[in-house]
Amino acid sequence: MIEELRNSFIEDSAKLDAYYNELDKEIKSKEDLNIFLTYDKAYVDSQLESLKAKKEAGEKPGKLYGIPLTVKDNISVKDVRMTCGSKMLENYIGIYDATVIERLKAEDCVIVGKVNMDEFAMGSTGETSYYGPTLNPLDKSLVPGGSSSGSAASIAADLAVISLGTDTGGSTRQPASFCNVVGYMPSYGSISRNGVVSMANTLDEVGILARSVEDVIDVFNIVNGYDRKDMTTIQDKLTVSKDAYDYKGKKVAFVDIEKYTRDQKVIEEYGEILEELRKLGADLEEVDFKYLIYANQIYNVIVSSEVSSNMSRFDGIRYGYQTDDYENTREMFVKTRTDGFGEEVKRRIAIGTYYLSSETDKEIYEQGLRLRRLLADEFKALFEKYDLFATPTSTKAPGKIDTDIKDPLAVFDSGLFNVIVNLSGLCAISLPYKEGISTSLQLIGNRRADDNLLRAALEFERR
Ligand code: GLN
Repeated sequence: MIEELRNSFIEDSAKLDAYYNELDKEIKSKEDLNIFLTYDKAYVDSQLESLKAKKEAGEKPGKLYGIPLTVKDNISVKDVRMTCGSKMLENYIGIYDATVIERLKAEDCVIVGKVNMDEFAMGSTGETSYYGPTLNPLDKSLVPGGSSSGSAASIAADLAVISLGTDTGGSTRQPASFCNVVGYMPSYGSISRNGVVSMANTLDEVGILARSVEDVIDVFNIVNGYDRKDMTTIQDKLTVSKDAYDYKGKKVAFVDIEKYTRDQKVIEEYGEILEELRKLGADLEEVDFKYLIYANQIYNVIVSSEVSSNMSRFDGIRYGYQTDDYENTREMFVKTRTDGFGEEVKRRIAIGTYYLSSETDKEIYEQGLRLRRLLADEFKALFEKYDLFATPTSTKAPGKIDTDIKDPLAVFDSGLFNVIVNLSGLCAISLPYKEGISTSLQLIGNRRADDNLLRAALEFERR
């Protein structure tokens, strides 16, 4: 898609204007989906003008010339509002471009706008946003998944070709699955997080969403690689090829899904997906894990602890919202944070603070870290024997708007196969398997075996 569209824009600049005028109409006609938090046609037009001027001046068009990109609202774009889906940052304007944005801009993509998300990326349904839920474009009565709700929905609604999300425990892959698009989370440290608002630093990653694996590869090749502004980035840059992948002789691990979910649709469709992999020639083998069943608990302890620490910076002084009704500084902090944060964020701050408090002597947090190590070791061992691990992306099909959100633990738990990837620094991709609302295949690859993973994904898509 990228290549075709780019070529058409290079051939004829008038097509660029026509495309974005049409997109403007589409965006307006789909306003009820509540995808965009910030969209301004004038901002788009100013980017188009500079693209055309660059071309006229004889500069070589970038690899993403004219390609429409939407950006999750926790990634900073210079001079554009960034809310993180929270009242806390309602009027905050980005003061610099995140490194990932810098790299995409350098290749001439067009930033269409900033899109909706669960507040500070905490959630699985897209409903914890202060700005209201995003609806699933495939069925408006359903949630689009979260926390990168607007990113996935913008691709599914054809309002962008590529979208950036973030993924701390499934937030790119799970909404991709609910909206039936592709969502990829690279190995930890592949893409710079400079300019990305932290949720839980040892788990956070930038994710890429698109219609096709091919587009995801193009974007990944541009944005990954070392950044001196993010000391967790890996030195070597990866360049993923689109060479054919032969499943024959490849060992793919899978699980007895009934141990992990009671959702009949997921159970049935996971079986169908495995059958597809078998047809491609994969050598499938069932595996069992000792620590997998604890993954959600381990994730909960670590994510909440890191969240409580990261959220402390929103104190009414340094960033965003400040209450105007207070008598002393302490009251200012309390009221600002009470009004500024939503339920889910407050719940996690409270839990995380408890995990880290002297009351528990950090016992819970340290236990979480120890178990995380055991879990990661279990997956390290898995990849000594297998090339890939195939799971459903979510253990639960998308629910109706305003339903699952009432039981935060149940939705939280549906990310079991997502959080294991973040906890152990591996890479994974969510792939549609048939049309419409359906279970997606999540392929998990070994740490830094992103090339192997993406080529396998491309082959699955080509089938
Ligand atoms: N659903 C997970 C959570 O609520 C995922 C969050 C994320 O990946 N940002 O914590």
